[in-house]
Amino acid sequence: MTNLTTFRNDTRLWLETHCPEGARGDGYVPLGSSKVELEADTLTWLNNMAERGWTVPTWPKEYGGAELELDAYNVLIEELKRINARPPLTGRGVNYIGPTILELGSDDQKARWLPGISRGEGAWAMGYSEPGAGSDLASLSLKAELVGDNYVLNGRKTWTSDAMLCDYIFVLARTSPDKPKHQGISLILVDMSQPEVAVRPIQLISGASPFNETLFEEALAPAVDVIGGVDNGWTVGKRLLQFERSTHAGINVSGSQGGMTAESTMPDRLRHYVGSTAGKLADSELRTKLTRFEMNGHAQRLTQKRAIQELEARAPGFTSSAVKLTNALQKQEGDELLIAAMGTQGVGWGGEQFAADETRTTKDWLYQKSLTIAGGTKEVQLNIIAKRVLGLPD
Ligand SMILES: Cc1cc2nc3c(=O)[nH]c(=O)nc-3n(C[C@H](O)[C@H](O)[C@H](O)COP(=O)(O)OP(=O)(O)OC[C@H]3O[C@@H](n4cnc5c(N)ncnc54)[C@H](O)[C@@H]3O)c2cc1C
Repeated sequence: MTNLTTFRNDTRLWLETHCPEGARGDGYVPLGSSKVELEADTLTWLNNMAERGWTVPTWPKEYGGAELELDAYNVLIEELKRINARPPLTGRGVNYIGPTILELGSDDQKARWLPGISRGEGAWAMGYSEPGAGSDLASLSLKAELVGDNYVLNGRKTWTSDAMLCDYIFVLARTSPDKPKHQGISLILVDMSQPEVAVRPIQLISGASPFNETLFEEALAPAVDVIGGVDNGWTVGKRLLQFERSTHAGINVSGSQGGMTAESTMPDRLRHYVGSTAGKLADSELRTKLTRFEMNGHAQRLTQKRAIQELEARAPGFTSSAVKLTNALQKQEGDELLIAAMGTQGVGWGGEQFAADETRTTKDWLYQKSLTIAGGTKEVQLNIIAKRVLGLPD
């Protein structure tokens, strides 16, 4: 059992000397991509934290972690926030596929993949969705055929976020087309540097293009890189989705991003546009909406805290669906409030009449629409909650 006071003091001291100035405040948090050159301070911070085992603080030491218990983990996150340090590493490596391998991979797979993931050696994409398989994921048709020691992959994935920056992709593929649809799927790790994997960008309404189609034409993946057993991909893939959803929910404790929703700055932001009379927001309708928003935000933070305290693994099970959904709805409500208060300043795309943070707010408002689609839609989460949490019939 760690002495938390000693741990806090040691951590504070260590962070003060090992977190460079350029790794504090807003700025880039590495995904571990070999295609992105890091600024010197960001790289130093990543290396310092990786050496300490704090890019994945709760993982076993042999795989690059520090074996922190949950209360010590929380102290670390508090101390990181205290000095405004950015997380040293994020993405689907430390948050999705890493904890999945840790939980369901073989010893050999853990030894081969986890130390590299913990040091940010390679960014990961997620190959689940296909043009004909989104919510109904089990209808996926990308084929993986065993030929000698390798699987040969043919097919198309879509909506693959960040694929243009990624070095690896975990793919749900059909390994036994003759079995019932949930039983013939495997989760396979694929190296994206081979020419048989091609990435094509897709543009979003926010103007950004973090999205892609990823095409596999005779791509190879070693048979030893099927995680959790051949044809067991539906079970493995669903667990990985819980890691994804709990990351969106702010309750995944695999990496050191800390997650939980930050304290709200909404009252000040609204006051800036609407003004105040006698200390109150000068718009009674907005004031009522703001009060509800602030109360929901407080409840959300308490729920996140409780979900983390009750954790027995690096992410909860079906709770992740509920907290992911309420987190997304809360963020969307905040954006709606802000845009309403901003009036015409909230519809700018560029130009001198709009401040940089105003056009960013407009783009964020549009981007946040995706929060109730990505990682499983709002309706899918409600179905899971109805079936798995409330025990309602199909
Ligand atoms: C920002 C973002 C990032 C993403 N990143 C990735 C990624 O990296 N990798 C990846 O594989 N995928 C990714 N996705 C894809 C995402 O997982 C899918 O968009 C999502 O699962 C929904 O699938 P779909 O788009 O095919 O919609 P559909 O499944 O066609 O759904 C259309 C509508 O029908 C509703 N619906 C469908 N089935 C039911 C049902 N049974 N009950 C009630 N309503 C239903 C849905 O809720 C939705 O409103 C990303 C999506 C977004 C928005």
